Amino acid sequence: MGLKIDVLTCTACMACELACGYHRDDAFALLSSCIMPYRAKEKKNYVGLILKEEDSLVAARPEGLEINRIGEEQDPGKEADASAKPMLLREACDLCEDADDGPLCIKFCPVNAISME
Ligand code: SF4
Ligand code: SF4
Repeated sequence: MGLKIDVLTCTACMACELACGYHRDDAFALLSSCIMPYRAKEKKNYVGLILKEEDSLVAARPEGLEINRIGEEQDPGKEADASAKPMLLREACDLCEDADDGPLCIKFCPVNAISME
């Protein structure tokens, strides 16, 4: 069981990032969040989402899903995502296991771009 992200629906509003930071720290602490939307400066209306899982970093992009196992060598010919390094240091998604009514990111996404699978 894990999170499923429909990145083509995501508007990069950051509500999930705020909710996840709150789940971690009882405050709006973006640096504690294990989910992070990002926009690409070079492409108009381009939105992606990065999710830190226990053993992988998941990048949901309009062109597809990329799962990088943490600790494995990356393709040296491929430029690393600038957002990846800070995400690696964060706690992994625990699916909000202590929340009575499920993952906060799902609850607060205004466009239902996140679901459980
Ligand atoms: S399920 Fe909880 S821990 Fe996982 S990304 Fe969403 S808010 Fe964060
Ligand atoms: S809350 Fe939903 S729309 Fe907003 S950034 Fe997260 S996934 Fe995207």
